Amino acid sequence: MPEQSTDSQRAGKERISPPEQHQPEPGLDSKMTPKADHCERSYQGHDRLKGKRALITGGDSGIGAAVAIAFAREGADVALAYLPVEASDALSVAEVLEDAGVEVEHFPGDLRDRTYRDSLVEQAAKALGGLDILVNNAGKQISVDSLEELSDDQVEATFDVNIFAMFALSRAALKVIPEGGSIINTTSIQAFDPSDNLMDYAATKGAISNFTKSLAAQAAKKGIRANAVAPGPIWTPLQPSDGQPVEALPEFGHDTWLGRAGQPVEVSPAYVFLASDEASYIVGSTIHVNGGKNQP
Ligand code: NAD
Ligand code: MG
Repeated sequence: MPEQSTDSQRAGKERISPPEQHQPEPGLDSKMTPKADHCERSYQGHDRLKGKRALITGGDSGIGAAVAIAFAREGADVALAYLPVEASDALSVAEVLEDAGVEVEHFPGDLRDRTYRDSLVEQAAKALGGLDILVNNAGKQISVDSLEELSDDQVEATFDVNIFAMFALSRAALKVIPEGGSIINTTSIQAFDPSDNLMDYAATKGAISNFTKSLAAQAAKKGIRANAVAPGPIWTPLQPSDGQPVEALPEFGHDTWLGRAGQPVEVSPAYVFLASDEASYIVGSTIHVNGGKNQP
C-alpha cells in the first residue's frame, strides 16, 4: 500500500476536514460545511449522451446531482427523483441543468412507497418521450454502533430504499429502455470492505453488487447494459445526516491511499462513461472510485 500523504492536496483536489456537524436525514446539500463539488463550474461536456434521456434517483444532491449535471452537459434530458423535503436542493440542480439547454422533469416522492416507485420509470419515460438510461442512486445509510442497537425497522427501511426499490425500478426499466440503453447501479466500497457500524447498509451494497451481475446477464439479452459504480468516501449530505458518527467527519476519507475524501464531481465521469456508447461492450462490471482502498 502506498505511504499515506500528509499533503493537503492530492490529484488536484483539496483534502477537507469538515467540522463536526449534524442534519436530520436525508440532509440537504445547501446546509453542508464545506459545500460539496458537483461540477457546476468544472464539467465540460462533449456530446457523449446527446439525445439520450435519463432517470436519476437521488438526483437532488451528492453523487446524483453531479451525475445529473454531467449528463446534462453531455446533452441528455434528465428526470430527477428525490424526496419531497429535498425540493430546494433539486431546484438548484435543475437550474444548472436548464442552463445546459436540456429538458428537466421533477419526480418528488418516497421510494418506500410502492405506488410511487412502481410508476416512476413509466412516468419519467412519458415525460421525456422515452428513456435510455436509469441511474439507481438513491440510498439510505445510518451509522449504528452495535447490532444490539440496530432495529428491525431500520434494517427494513435501508433494504427498502437501497435494494428493493432497485428491483422495482430495474424491472420497469427493462420494459421501456430500448436496445443500446443502460442501467447503472450505485454500490459502494462497503460491498467489499464493510464497516462494523454500517451492517445493514453494507449488506444492501453487497446485494446490489450481486444483483447487478444477474441483472446484467438478463438485460444483455435485450441489448441493455447493466453495470455498477462503487464509490468510496465521498463528501455528500448522506454523511452528516447520521451516515457517519459526527466525531468521524473531520477525518472522513483520510484513510484512503490519496489521504482524502472524494467529491461528487470525481464520481460522475464513471457514470457518464458507462451510460455512453463508448462503453458498448462493458456489461456486469463495476467501476471503483475510491481514492485507493483494498478492493476486489
Ligand atoms: P445523498 O444524500 O446526496 O444522496 C442520497 C439520495 O437518496 C438523497 O438525496 C435522496 O434523494 C435519496 N433517498 C434517500 N432515501 C430516499 C427515499 N426513501 N425515497 C427516495 N429517495 C431517497 O448522498 P450520496 O452519498 O450522493 O448517495 C448517493 C448514492 O451513493 C447512495 O446510493 C449511496 O449509498 C452511494 N454511496 C455514497 C458514498 C459516499 O461516501 N457518499 C459511498 C458509496 C456509495
Ligand atoms: Mg439529497
